[in-house]
Amino acid sequence: MLVLNNVEAIYSDVILAVKGISLQVPDGKCVTLLGGNGAGKSTTLKSVSNLIRTEDGKVTSGSIEFCGERIDGRDPAEIVRIGLVHIMEGRRVLRHLTVEQNLIVGGHMERSGAEVRRRIDEVYSRIPRLSALKGRTAGYLSGGEQQMLVVGRALMSKPKLIMIDEPSLGLAPLIVDEVFALLASLKAAGMTLLIVEQNTRVALDVADYGYVMENGRIVLEGAASDLKANEDVREFYLGLN
Ligand code: ATP
Repeated sequence: MLVLNNVEAIYSDVILAVKGISLQVPDGKCVTLLGGNGAGKSTTLKSVSNLIRTEDGKVTSGSIEFCGERIDGRDPAEIVRIGLVHIMEGRRVLRHLTVEQNLIVGGHMERSGAEVRRRIDEVYSRIPRLSALKGRTAGYLSGGEQQMLVVGRALMSKPKLIMIDEPSLGLAPLIVDEVFALLASLKAAGMTLLIVEQNTRVALDVADYGYVMENGRIVLEGAASDLKANEDVREFYLGLN
């Protein structure tokens, strides 16, 4: 469904953040992109959604295909419209709006009010916690609830593929498990996912396949079960012996 071929991205002539990445996210699968701080994971996602441009960076070579079509360089809103949504790092909820208003904003590309209502109800049935919180101001939600809200807001655009950047960041372990249980339920319902994570263990539990990035390059890839068993991954990324 998503194919990156030799993608290179820079922030300036001196910062080559992504140095020729090739990866694939097949239809209905969950793929994780792992690696430490500054490895280039977020930049890879921004290259796909064409949001790196907004930070003075650009994709300098390679190709990005989504559902068989080249999307590199396309308008970011158009990329969302064709079914590829990017949930940025840091749980960017609209803090002064209610949970339901945040969902409405997520559905802004849909003209029909009835369809927006139908999608909100679908989000509530997939994430019942949001239904209970619908009138609450988003800024007062806990970190885990905000993470669920940004996932719900992403679902409002009826995506085929969700890219999510560090969903576990700053959350307590139990809450991380809840957020990943939500991602696993989306996958079980047929959603295609690309998850960027530093929390290797939880990511490999839900993923089918993983790529490990270091210094702008993919240094290792394989089935999630193989990566979990791999000595280097265990030692360097899971902290196990
Ligand atoms: P993190 O988990 O810390 O976000 P990451 O693996 O996602 O790490 P990136 O954020 O993609 O890594 O960063 C890759 C490289 O690009 C780093 O060297 C970083 O300092 C640099 N970089 C990231 N964003 C910018 C920016 N807006 N301007 C300039 N350099 C940037």
